[in-house]
Amino acid sequence: MRKRIAILGSTGSIGTNTLRVIDGLNSSLNGNEQPSAQADKFEVVALSGHSNIKLLAEQVRRYRPRFAAVTDSDYLEQFRRLTEGLDVEVFAGEEGLTKVAELDDVDTVVAAIVGVAGLSSALAAVRRGKRVAIANKEPLVVAGKMITAEAKKYGAELLPVDSEHSAIFQALQAGRRQEVAKILLTTSGGPFRGATIEDIENATIEQVMAHPVWKMGPKITVDSATMMNKALEIIEAHWLFDIGQEKIEVLVHPESIVHSLVEFVDGSVIAQMGSPDMTLAIQYALTYPRRLKGCAKQLQLDRLKALTFEKPNTEIFPAIEMGFEVARTGGTAAAVFNAANEAAVEQFLAGRIKFANIVELVRHCLDRCDCKSDATLPEMLEADAWAKKEVLECLKSRQKS
Ligand code: NAD
Ligand code: MG
Repeated sequence: MRKRIAILGSTGSIGTNTLRVIDGLNSSLNGNEQPSAQADKFEVVALSGHSNIKLLAEQVRRYRPRFAAVTDSDYLEQFRRLTEGLDVEVFAGEEGLTKVAELDDVDTVVAAIVGVAGLSSALAAVRRGKRVAIANKEPLVVAGKMITAEAKKYGAELLPVDSEHSAIFQALQAGRRQEVAKILLTTSGGPFRGATIEDIENATIEQVMAHPVWKMGPKITVDSATMMNKALEIIEAHWLFDIGQEKIEVLVHPESIVHSLVEFVDGSVIAQMGSPDMTLAIQYALTYPRRLKGCAKQLQLDRLKALTFEKPNTEIFPAIEMGFEVARTGGTAAAVFNAANEAAVEQFLAGRIKFANIVELVRHCLDRCDCKSDATLPEMLEADAWAKKEVLECLKSRQKS
């Protein structure tokens, strides 16, 4: 069946990789003479971008979607000029993004925005019963309980794009839910695997941004260096797979070939392997339950020297334990945890704080928040705003003293 796709955040790393996946799928379908293959085409119906307007306009020129959203309204006029003469209906702001997520002409929404900014559009798509291929993990951290409940209620298919969660989703198909003993979330270890406390203290932005395996957007690259990314993924897995944090383990796997594993009660461990390439996970979320020939590199196991695994160093990376702690407490702690990190990463990327301050600031906010255990969405958003402000206030007071 023809797939009509909207990509929220099409100008980012996941967004541009999604367009590569669609190109790859359509070109392999083109080579297939079967009439059914032609009917299977993947059509780009809508795209959204925030401030990289030139790239969004280029994408609109190339893929000819019928709709586009410019979420930072300051760029709307510029975008209109750049796309003059093209038959595209343009929406603006967060409201415009929600309209795109709800379009009747769309079956699959790829949620590829970074941060909690993607929450309302992802939720809107879920409430329209769409297939939601979700890369945007922060909304799942903050409101995973609600998003997964709404997906059930509205018959939406919530399919993970995060590579570890895609791997778990695939491995889970080997058994029944009650037969799962634990989930093993893998991590490459990031740029500071084997680092000392001093290395972390003196980390430069260049070291932080030099991820050994993945080329990703700036926020998740910083999160991978602090291991906040793994912490967010523990909470993401907890909600996506309805599994207690005590059944989740983190395993460092520097080769990044095994994308995660599920251990069943009989002792069998099922892993999903593949080249470290996000197009694999993106594509599976688009084609599930089918598998089609796409653009990811084939894995050549005979060229690999070894697949190694080790326990993470939680003293060097306290974020991992914080992730378990927040998955256990739940409620507004998750919103505070995520928001403090978003604010601290922004400060780090702007050159205003040191790398080691990021996790410290998240800890500071968790210790100071007046957290509620079972929170509503407005309470979550209030906690998000509180933590973002608390980070700035804490930095201000440190500057004074
Ligand atoms: P990115 O920074 O490269 O792209 C972010 C996208 O979001 C851009 O299109 C940008 O225009 C849009 N955006 C930014 N701020 C916005 C706002 N306030 N409102 C609306 N749109 C906004 O990020 P990315 O690396 O593609 O990551 C996207 C999401 O996917 C993140 O949640 C990340 O954790 C997750 N993820 C990414 C990867 C990866 O390989 N990049 C892997 C796993 C999960
Ligand atoms: Mg991941």
